[in-house]
Amino acid sequence: MAAYELAFATARKQAAASVADWARRTGDELARELAEAAASTRPEVSLLTGIAARFLGGAAVEDLGASTEHRLLRRTIRDFAERVIKPRAQQIHREDRDLPEDIIQGAARLGLFGLSVPEAYGGSRGETPDLRAMLIATEELSRASLTAGGSLITRPEILVQALLSGGTEAQKRAWLPAIATGRQLVAVAVTEPDFGSDVAGIKCRAERVAGGWQLNGAKLWCTFAGRAELLMVLCRTAPGGHRGLSLFVAEKPAFSGREFEHRQPHGGRLRGRAIPTIGYRGMHSFELNFEDYRLPEDALVGGEAGLNRGFYLQMEGFAPGRLQTAGRAVGLMQAALEDALAFTRARHVFGRPVAAHQLPQATLGRLAVAVSSARQLSYVAAERLQDGAGQVEASLAKLHAARLAELVTRDAMQLFGGLGYAEETDVSRYFVDARVLTIFEGAEEVLALRVIARSLLEGGPNDAL
Ligand SMILES: Cc1cc2nc3c(=O)[nH]c(=O)nc-3n(C[C@H](O)[C@H](O)[C@H](O)COP(=O)(O)OP(=O)(O)OC[C@H]3O[C@@H](n4cnc5c(N)ncnc54)[C@H](O)[C@@H]3O)c2cc1C
Repeated sequence: MAAYELAFATARKQAAASVADWARRTGDELARELAEAAASTRPEVSLLTGIAARFLGGAAVEDLGASTEHRLLRRTIRDFAERVIKPRAQQIHREDRDLPEDIIQGAARLGLFGLSVPEAYGGSRGETPDLRAMLIATEELSRASLTAGGSLITRPEILVQALLSGGTEAQKRAWLPAIATGRQLVAVAVTEPDFGSDVAGIKCRAERVAGGWQLNGAKLWCTFAGRAELLMVLCRTAPGGHRGLSLFVAEKPAFSGREFEHRQPHGGRLRGRAIPTIGYRGMHSFELNFEDYRLPEDALVGGEAGLNRGFYLQMEGFAPGRLQTAGRAVGLMQAALEDALAFTRARHVFGRPVAAHQLPQATLGRLAVAVSSARQLSYVAAERLQDGAGQVEASLAKLHAARLAELVTRDAMQLFGGLGYAEETDVSRYFVDARVLTIFEGAEEVLALRVIARSLLEGGPNDAL
């Protein structure tokens, strides 16, 4: 318990420090007030209502301190997300529809799949990655829809990092340009029915056969596995925990809908069935069954050098994946905050707008503080990760933002009264979508105990997803 609490306390402290630093750099009065509130476990009610009053008056802080380039990026993506994603987000959610192709193609045209792919391989990443840009893109897409927007670029990010860390030159040349342009979409298959957090135990087997590899076993929760053409699959290639795992890239045709079957000429097959979920709909998260499913020799990431190094390679990918999940949480919270501000301004109770009553106003203030603290912590983690460190900071940013997203979407829903509980209101979707953020990309308890606290207390390596 103490270790669990230490992880959250550390995240809160670092978040408060990052908001304070942002306030100092920008010299902005609203940022200073947000920093003061973020530093306190029980901020003064007058501080919170004062913050809320400024947001109710139209203040926005997401671009405060940002470079011209980053402001432009945010504006461009917000415009795309408002026009193309947001109007359909609710229908995709309520009818659990497939993601419309024009959202995918629009994201591809904007170069969103290539943000972390180096220029030499067809992407837009310079010498060092601009992870702040990746976060801004993710925030804006998630503000429109967590699944139909923000989550589109998480899977490519994970595979790209794994390929850059351990792929052969031929593999990078084969897959990175296709990922960068959105020609091949990506899904990640790590979790299994019996092993989620405890990745080292996974059982799905890859065995050598003439001309390549043969996969047998089950995977669970593989998001976007139907539509994706590239599956990043972690398989057991030798006994003995995490040292017997290897990473493969399986090419498959794209399928629409919630079930698919891919049969190979020799009789191997891959079957997929989407698991119905309360939220995070549209991309569909699949249960997969590999039966004598063949992959060519070069599907093993890193070639012979990559044999039994899969655990480490997928971990390389999961650090930016976690950071991006913090960005997804921030975007979702931003949407909830904006909707709550608009609703409480318009809705009158007891003769006054909801927002004119002290308690809801203080709640709005707390929501604004939460969004800023999660955003600024994620930006600091991005800088550290960019400098080659920051694995733990990425986990802290994810832990903090995911937990806050649950609270913020819950409170935003509450401010809507009965309407918040209506399926047709966006805020009810934010609430069920937020629920997944503390479960995937490292379950909250596992991140806190086995990744963050372990690193803080022992400086040791982590062994969990
Ligand atoms: C909608 C959705 C989409 C997903 N998408 C993907 C995807 O695309 N690819 C993929 O590979 N996976 C995906 N996942 C799977 C996700 O990463 C796992 O669900 C997650 O890692 C947790 O694993 P688990 O479900 O097996 O839970 P378990 O690991 O069985 O955990 C059960 C509970 O025990 C807790 N726990 C576990 N270990 C410890 C410990 N040592 N100490 C204390 N508590 C512990 C957990 O925190 C949790 O509360 C997705 C999941 C969901 C719900």
